[in-house]
Amino acid sequence: MRRRCIPFALAETIFEIPASFYQSLGVKAVLVDLDNTLDPYVVSDPTESPKKWKEALLGAGLRIVILSNNSGKRVSRYATELGVEHRCFMKKPFSGPLKRFLAQENLKPGEAILVGDQIMTDVQAANGAGVRCVLTEPLDPREPPWTKFNRLFDRPKRKKIKAKGLAPDWKEIVP
Ligand SMILES: [Mg+2]
Repeated sequence: MRRRCIPFALAETIFEIPASFYQSLGVKAVLVDLDNTLDPYVVSDPTESPKKWKEALLGAGLRIVILSNNSGKRVSRYATELGVEHRCFMKKPFSGPLKRFLAQENLKPGEAILVGDQIMTDVQAANGAGVRCVLTEPLDPREPPWTKFNRLFDRPKRKKIKAKGLAPDWKEIVP
C-alpha cells in the first residue's frame, strides 16, 4: 500500500483522544475534519460531544482549526456555532491548501496534527504535507454519493492497515 495512505495512528472517534496526547507529541494545532469526524453530514449545528471536546482542548491551550472540503456556508456556520477557527474548500487529498495554511500560520508540519475519518482525503492530504494524521471511524453511515464512492477505496485499505498492523491505535503511542 502507498505510504501516503497510511495514517500515523487510529482511533474509534476523535472524542476519546485527550489533550495530553497532542501535547506529548509537541502539537500546537489540532486540525480537524468536520463531516463524520466531529458530527454527521446531516447535522448542521454542533452536538454535545464536539462541544465538550472543544472545551477540553482549548482549555489545555491547544488551537483547533476545522479544515473541510465542504462549502463555506456549512463549515462557517458549524465552526462559528462551536467557537473554533475554520478553513473550507481544502481540496483534500491535495496537500497544497494545507501546506499554504501551515506557512501562513507559521506552523511547522510537526506542530500540527490532522484528525479525520477518510483515507482518501484526510490521510492523503496530511501525509502530503508531512503532517501526522489520526484516522477515525466515520460517525454515521449516512454519507453523500462522493463519500460513498471514496469508501470503496477506504474500506479495504483500512482493513489491511488494521490486519497488518501498519498503524497503531493512538493509545499505543508513547512519545
Ligand atoms: Mg469527513
